[in-house]
Amino acid sequence: MVSERASSNVMPSPFVIPIFIAHQGCPHQCLFCNQRSITGAAEGMVGGREVAETIRTQLAWPRRHPEAPVQVAFYGGSFTGLAMDRQRELLGAAQPFLASGQVRELRLSTRPDYITPEIAGFLKEQGVGIVELGAQSLDDRVLAASGRGHSAAQVGIAVACLKEAGIRVGLQLMLGLPGDSTTTALASARHAAALRPDMVRLYPCLVISGSPLAELYRKGEYRPLSLLQGVALGGRLWSIFTAQGIPVVRMGLQPSASLEETMLAGPYHPAFGELVLSRLFFNQLRAALGARPRHQSHRLSLAKADESIYRGKGNANVKRLVALGLLEGVETVFSADQLRQSVVLISVDS
Ligand code: SF4
Repeated sequence: MVSERASSNVMPSPFVIPIFIAHQGCPHQCLFCNQRSITGAAEGMVGGREVAETIRTQLAWPRRHPEAPVQVAFYGGSFTGLAMDRQRELLGAAQPFLASGQVRELRLSTRPDYITPEIAGFLKEQGVGIVELGAQSLDDRVLAASGRGHSAAQVGIAVACLKEAGIRVGLQLMLGLPGDSTTTALASARHAAALRPDMVRLYPCLVISGSPLAELYRKGEYRPLSLLQGVALGGRLWSIFTAQGIPVVRMGLQPSASLEETMLAGPYHPAFGELVLSRLFFNQLRAALGARPRHQSHRLSLAKADESIYRGKGNANVKRLVALGLLEGVETVFSADQLRQSVVLISVDS
């Protein structure tokens, strides 16, 4: 009996050199956003000289996988909302590293309404291989309630422009935005999947000090998801995308001291993605173990790399499986050669 979910880690992960341009290029502050807390980025404008210096410094560091492709990523703002001479300055600083082959490609994040065919063409010429669009939702009412200032239709237009230019597209979606519900979040994810992005990131909406959402929260006008709700919803969205072969490359914000110091409420956990995968893995195991003939003994084989998501936080998954009687007559083994997130059950009765 074999049940498998495809692994999304086939290619070696790129080595990413991040350059934060906190809130630069943004037309306003979206309700939930405080990039300085989220990224820990300092105030001040990054210039071409700083970009070149950051790349040079990081390329000189010893790397665990020196064969991994190097990407330079501009995050934390709306890159294509910057004045054209600033865009040229920042992207231009990376050109010598692209030309020498030390950097494979550039990536950046921006707003969907700041992409046109001309901008997409310009980015392609500059060596930008991936653009991550802060879509956040594909529901117009949720977008309006979150103060985004763009529509769901503009997300579709931006994806089409970027694909037409030959740029890979990432979509960032948020869980638990003002006005959102399980129904709208699932519909939003299906709509996003239909746009065929190359990758997706899922971020739970957190209440961060200094964001307009913090005011609503203090006034009792916004209630964030609980961690349990966030994990459950994250799992359902993950399933929608991965079922269509769209990798979810991150779930949950990058943990940082500045984020933890300024976060007031919301479904935060430093290993949010692992909690989601662990829950999904539990469901998969429960189905596989529940379907086995109980009069036989079985060996349950799992990937060694999955041991922690199998066990869950505080061994919770194993305890639940034991409580359900699903591990009776089952010997669990971990194999270094097994495909990640696959479940192999073999009868060991002679
Ligand atoms: S969510 Fe994006 S567009 Fe809105 S303020 Fe933050 S970085 Fe800028």
